Amino acid sequence: MKLDTPILRLPSVGSVYANRLRKLDIETAEDLLLHVPSRYIDYRIKSAISDTQPGETVTIQGKIESVKNIYTTHGKKIQMGEVSDKTGVLTVVWFNQPYLIRNVKKGMNYSFSGKIDWFDRKKALVSPEYEPLDGKTQTLHTGRLVPVYPETARVSSKWLRGKVVLTLSLVEQWLDDFVPTDVLARYSLIDFIKALESVHFPETPEEAREAKTRLAFNELLFHHLRSLMRKKDWHQIMTANRLIVDTDAMKEFINSLAFDLTNSQIRSINEISEDLVKDSPMNRLLEGDVGSGKTVVAAAAAFASFINGYQTVFMAPTQILANQHFNTLHEIFDRFKVRVSLVTSSLVKKDLGKTDIFVGTHALIHKKIDFESVSLVVIDEQHRFGVEQRAHLIKKTENKGTAPHILTMTATPIPRTAALTIYGDLDLSTLDELPKGRRPITTWVISPAKRDSGYEWIKDKIKKENIQVYIICPLIEESEVETMRQVKAATVEYEKLKEIFSDMNVDLLHGRQSAKLKNEVLDSFKKGVTKVLVSTPVVEVGIDVANATIMVIEGAERFGLAQLHQLRGRVGRGSIKSYCLLITDSHSNVVFTRLKALTKSMSGFELAELDLKMRGPGEIFGKKQHGFLDLKIAAWSDTDLIKKSRSVAEEAIENPKKFSKLLNKIDSQNIVPN
Ligand code: ADP
Ligand code: MG
Repeated sequence: MKLDTPILRLPSVGSVYANRLRKLDIETAEDLLLHVPSRYIDYRIKSAISDTQPGETVTIQGKIESVKNIYTTHGKKIQMGEVSDKTGVLTVVWFNQPYLIRNVKKGMNYSFSGKIDWFDRKKALVSPEYEPLDGKTQTLHTGRLVPVYPETARVSSKWLRGKVVLTLSLVEQWLDDFVPTDVLARYSLIDFIKALESVHFPETPEEAREAKTRLAFNELLFHHLRSLMRKKDWHQIMTANRLIVDTDAMKEFINSLAFDLTNSQIRSINEISEDLVKDSPMNRLLEGDVGSGKTVVAAAAAFASFINGYQTVFMAPTQILANQHFNTLHEIFDRFKVRVSLVTSSLVKKDLGKTDIFVGTHALIHKKIDFESVSLVVIDEQHRFGVEQRAHLIKKTENKGTAPHILTMTATPIPRTAALTIYGDLDLSTLDELPKGRRPITTWVISPAKRDSGYEWIKDKIKKENIQVYIICPLIEESEVETMRQVKAATVEYEKLKEIFSDMNVDLLHGRQSAKLKNEVLDSFKKGVTKVLVSTPVVEVGIDVANATIMVIEGAERFGLAQLHQLRGRVGRGSIKSYCLLITDSHSNVVFTRLKALTKSMSGFELAELDLKMRGPGEIFGKKQHGFLDLKIAAWSDTDLIKKSRSVAEEAIENPKKFSKLLNKIDSQNIVPN
């Protein structure tokens, strides 16, 4: 049997179990073998009956002398038996397993693992695991380190153990290590076949760890190989329009800006400029905290495209962000006579021709833009687009083996090593500093009991300092689109806050409002007419209002740290001192410690690293993140292993002959774009 054999073809796995296993993502023999235990129970200590002590977890092996069902006065069923070995007799009890007496038969030999305890004032083995011994050389569920698997309804670890042993014995002859032995030795990795066996049935905890490391290495290695192959494929494509970056013109552009660029902005613009003059298109990710100034970096790239006489497509995830970018770009470019168009559904094709920069949402994809004269595509907040949307746009821009340069941007701070795996096919530029003059945001974690005095403090601030406030409603459910429940909750909150802030303008913003209404809401907030803006968490990450200096986040414990940090980034945009109030009614210490981190750190990268350790990547990106890479065996915190596997992947791409077995394992069908 081969590794890719469907699970249904395993002996005694029928469609019922095959369906249940699908919930664990197990579809093939290989999936089953890579379903690694979450922990092991140590049943290694074997004991003679006479040596057993209450409190010990032991394995005893002996003959069943008697076993029967007993009905207690409370209507419970107890299974009670006696087991003997050369040294004595011991009582064994189970609870509520009346069928058990059909499996455990008098006169037969069994192996039992469990805890010795007092029962009915007698020493007894209570609720042990058991399995028949006769004719067996090796036990499975007792007398060893016994694997416990992540389970699903009606698939027990006991059942899985049986199938894993069977599968291992059936596939063994087909197994072959696909990583050359010298490479394994170099990185102190164990053999693949040995790893598959030991991860399920290790002799020692150390062996289990080594096995898991090897399998985690494989997982990372495959991810790296796929992204490096994608990268190689991308480099086969040619740019449709060759660019020349005129340094004098670029300098003029940079000097025309209202502020000095930060060092990391300059570095990123240089990295992009180097890409733009190449024959193969750029595929670069610009990563930087909220407010780090990504837009102007993208604008510099768009300017380079403009002076070469080509167009730029600038795509934002929401209409509001698109509007904002349109305004920003318009302002920056006005003096250079760059024509910026906001692409809306009403824009007709003939208008498009007179444009240098198209700004819009993913609706841009469906517009009849003539991509032949587009030399640059900018995708803002890329993680908010689906994999398909991005792939679609890239496909659409590809033309007879040519494609424009692509710059994607994200405010999601992904620690560098994790980025290596997630975005391994992209080149990375990082904005790791905020523009000068930004003051840190003072952040407090507060309990609901202090909410009212918090509101009073805010009112006072608004009246005395004429500042503005965001109040973010709790996250009701994780969803890509805003749900009605979320909107309702926000509306309720809004009604309440209108009463509390009755002598000032309070407004509501949510995703189900019409574009027109949203614009009106934002407009009066920008103009300073609205003092308190109540908003759902998912809307409009990119709003930029410098006078808004206080943010209140309700239900803070429901967000990931990086998410909170991003939300918080809406304030602290001007030179006025800003505050963020995290309200939580959770009494959990873990929650408090986590939120407390925000009061201490202003670095998105630092917070993301922490979140990664404390809650896993799903929490950084939001659980329903499209196409987000989900690691099954490896962990994002395994930075060392991530680096090792990356260098092996690079070595394999450079030396395909030596690594032919490995490269054959990578199914080209599985290469999906990031
Ligand atoms: P983000 O990285 O979140 O997209 P933006 O590009 O929206 O950040 O920039 C946030 C704000 O900072 C904008 O108002 C922008 O004009 C301003 N800004 C960008 N770069 C600088 C800089 N080097 N110095 C001062 N302000 C800057
Ligand atoms: Mg932005």
